[in-house]
Amino acid sequence: MSSHIETTVVNGLGLAQEIRKDLSEKVAQHVAAGRRPPCLAVVLVGEDPGSASYIKGKRRACKRIGMESVEHNLPDTATEDEVLELVATLNRDDGVDGILVQLPLPKQVSPNAVAESVDPGKDVDGLHPLSAGRLLHGEPCFLPCTPQGIMEILRRFEIPLKGARAVVIGRSAIVGKPISLLLQREHATVTMCHSRTVDLAERCREADVLVVAVGVPLLVKGDWIKPGAAVIDVGASAVDGEPVGDVDTEAVMGIAKIVTPHRRGVGPLTITMLLVNTFDAYEARLA
Ligand code: NAP
Repeated sequence: MSSHIETTVVNGLGLAQEIRKDLSEKVAQHVAAGRRPPCLAVVLVGEDPGSASYIKGKRRACKRIGMESVEHNLPDTATEDEVLELVATLNRDDGVDGILVQLPLPKQVSPNAVAESVDPGKDVDGLHPLSAGRLLHGEPCFLPCTPQGIMEILRRFEIPLKGARAVVIGRSAIVGKPISLLLQREHATVTMCHSRTVDLAERCREADVLVVAVGVPLLVKGDWIKPGAAVIDVGASAVDGEPVGDVDTEAVMGIAKIVTPHRRGVGPLTITMLLVNTFDAYEARLA
């Protein structure tokens, strides 16, 4: 008979609030010393309601810790040149420390071209090829926010990574690939899975740390989980208008050591890491 494990549901919002409190104190110290607060520029192209709501959340988070945020809106019909021109203006603006261009972009605008156009010193989303290259080389760089948030969760819960077996499902440039590099950096043995992986359930059962960034509701079942595993659910989908993750959270209770819920799990950490990166960009520019 397998033993019951006390599963901790990660309070991502609580962790995020602790980090934001620290940041707000650091921002206040700069302002008290007579400096302007850090400033994040966010660019929204088109009127995707999901993107608009993400941007609203990011701007609200900035405000709460005393950072400035400036929003730039371009219409759905904006050309790639128009987006690149706006980014170039923000690159030159000394009052802007970080630039975030909200994805997805309309089909006529290449996300790669936009990522490359951002000044690497203001690349707080960690999507510039230079940031990605530095990550690959193990050099200091801006990390994409979601993988950075996941590493923070694993660190705070003291999940052993050295020699651990980690499985990542999903190979996006924004989550899957960078988290696999970060886990390797901490000496985990990483298996990458994706839509063509054969016997996905069996791969998952090998995982001491399982990161799922797919976007298929409730893909990962309870009997896919190794007892005592750390399960990180990045997925953010909706079923019948209800938000749902990639992991059947209820089913992993009593099996996993920790699990991130689809609400208030990884999401608040993602936004917080954007604030951390913007603050770091600000301090680097002051130096
Ligand atoms: P993505 O670009 O949407 O790609 C999905 C990945 O999942 C691909 O690598 C794909 O494989 C793989 N995949 C699709 N179906 C699969 C299946 N049945 N079995 C195994 N692998 C499968 O990835 P993303 O941008 O990282 O987004 C993934 C999810 O995370 C989405 O729900 C997104 O909304 C969410 N997300 C949440 C946050 C947050 O802060 N909470 C941040 C970012 C993303 P192939 O490569 O073979 O196509």
